[in-house]
Amino acid sequence: MTVFKASSDQVEILGAAIIPVLKGIPVSSVSSKLLQEYHLENPVADQYYNQQQYLDLLKKINTYMDMVLFGIGQNIFLEAVFPPDIDTFEKVFLGLDQAYHLNHRGGEIGHYNTQKIDEQSYLADCDNPYPCNFDQGIIQGIAKYFNQRILIEHQTEACRMKGDEHCIYEISVL
Ligand SMILES: [Zn+2]
Repeated sequence: MTVFKASSDQVEILGAAIIPVLKGIPVSSVSSKLLQEYHLENPVADQYYNQQQYLDLLKKINTYMDMVLFGIGQNIFLEAVFPPDIDTFEKVFLGLDQAYHLNHRGGEIGHYNTQKIDEQSYLADCDNPYPCNFDQGIIQGIAKYFNQRILIEHQTEACRMKGDEHCIYEISVL
C-alpha cells in the first residue's frame, strides 16, 4: 500500500495504537501539540479514531524527525491490542497481522505478512500504509520486550518511503 494513505476515509484505528505517540516523543508538550493538530488529543484506548488523521500525523513527524517513528513503533507492543496467550517473540511476531487487524476497522488496511524461515531467521513483508522506520520499530520493540536480540535488515530495493507498495525485512536472531 502507499505510505501515509488510508484506503478510505472510513478506516479507523483504536486509541490504544495511538498512545505510543505520547511515549515515542518524550517531550509531552510537543506530542500533545502534534496530537491536537490532527484532532487526536488525549487518545482513549478503546475508542476509535480516523486512520488518515493518524497517518497524516506520522507523515508530519517523518518530515522533521523520522527516527522518532522508530521510537513510536517500539512502544506499539506495550500499548496496542494483541491477541491473548502470546508469550514469546516468535508468537507475537507471527501473529502481528492478526494484532494489526484487531486495532483497525472500517476497510482495507493491508498486511504484515510474517513467516519463520528457520530457527535463526524470520521474514516480514509489510504491505500497509505505515512508514518503514515505524514498522522496524514495532518488530524491534517486541524483541526488546522478550529480551530477544535481533538484527533487522531491509531486503530488496523496494521501500514504501521510495513510493513502493511494501517493505520486506529479514530478521536474524542474534
Ligand atoms: Zn522500507
